[in-house]
Amino acid sequence: MKPAPFDYVRAASVEDATRALLAATGTAMVLGGGQSLMPLLALRVSPADVLVDIGRIEALRATAQIPGGQRIGASITHAEIEDGKVTDHTGGLMRKVAAGIAYRAVRNHGTIGGSVALADPAADWPVCLLALGASVRIAGPNGERVEPIDQFLRGAYTTSLEPGEIITAFDVPTPPTGARIGYTKVVRKSGAFAMSIGCVVRAPGGGSATVTLGGTTTRAALMLETSQALAASTAPSEHELRVAIAADLAEAAPDADAYQLRLHTATLLRAVKETLS
Ligand SMILES: Cc1cc2nc3c(=O)[nH]c(=O)nc-3n(C[C@H](O)[C@H](O)[C@H](O)COP(=O)(O)OP(=O)(O)OC[C@H]3O[C@@H](n4cnc5c(N)ncnc54)[C@H](O)[C@@H]3O)c2cc1C
Repeated sequence: MKPAPFDYVRAASVEDATRALLAATGTAMVLGGGQSLMPLLALRVSPADVLVDIGRIEALRATAQIPGGQRIGASITHAEIEDGKVTDHTGGLMRKVAAGIAYRAVRNHGTIGGSVALADPAADWPVCLLALGASVRIAGPNGERVEPIDQFLRGAYTTSLEPGEIITAFDVPTPPTGARIGYTKVVRKSGAFAMSIGCVVRAPGGGSATVTLGGTTTRAALMLETSQALAASTAPSEHELRVAIAADLAEAAPDADAYQLRLHTATLLRAVKETLS
């Protein structure tokens, strides 16, 4: 199928994009890398009257060191992170995540901003950025606001974005020196969306840990009990971890069947074990 007819606006600046989104007659949508939006339009799942293309806005491609971390522009592509064109300050986590998204043609165009804006529970960036404690920078008609990604993500395909707002960048904290990182995902076939993704960022020697889960969940979710179990002990037993994971899954994946629960449990245990060895 082909998309229904739409108007196209190429925004020259963030302000220009905001103005165009608000001035549009009908449904206006931001066009990032187009890797999710264009198929959705072609399938007529997501109708748009106007597409506002933000791909040529240089400000959205900026990266910078900030106190305690790095700012990454929303229009940075998966491939640019995979190729190390953006310094990976996360001990290799972001490069690994980028390299595992879809296949190279999608990674060449798809952006980190578009991925988080879509808020697909099975997408990689929301799970990773949540584990890293990132914040989302958003520009809109009332200026700029910054929101922790945990608050920004509201549910499957639902975020706090208001009409006229766009994601401009992410502030991604640097993990503690020597942090142990785990990232595991289960896909049916190479290049497909994940059925389960587990991510762990753990301070060396314990003390603090963040565990997140995505896939067939309601959204990328913090696994609070598992994080606590991992922070409380340098070598928690598998039984302790399984009890904590089961409690977290009851919240994060309330509709999961027995197969999905086993899958998520295995994914999380594998990601945790990567941080224990
Ligand atoms: C075959 C295939 C396999 C894939 N596999 C994976 C996978 O394994 N893991 C994974 O994580 N992803 C996967 N994806 C999705 C891919 O990563 C997309 O690049 C990503 O989801 C969307 O990024 P985009 O820049 O292309 O955004 P677009 O497709 O342009 O937009 C997506 C949505 O975000 C909005 N949007 C875009 N940019 C912004 C912004 N800056 N501010 C506000 N709203 C914005 C759009 O309006 C739209 O609603 C796959 C896609 C395909 C086609």
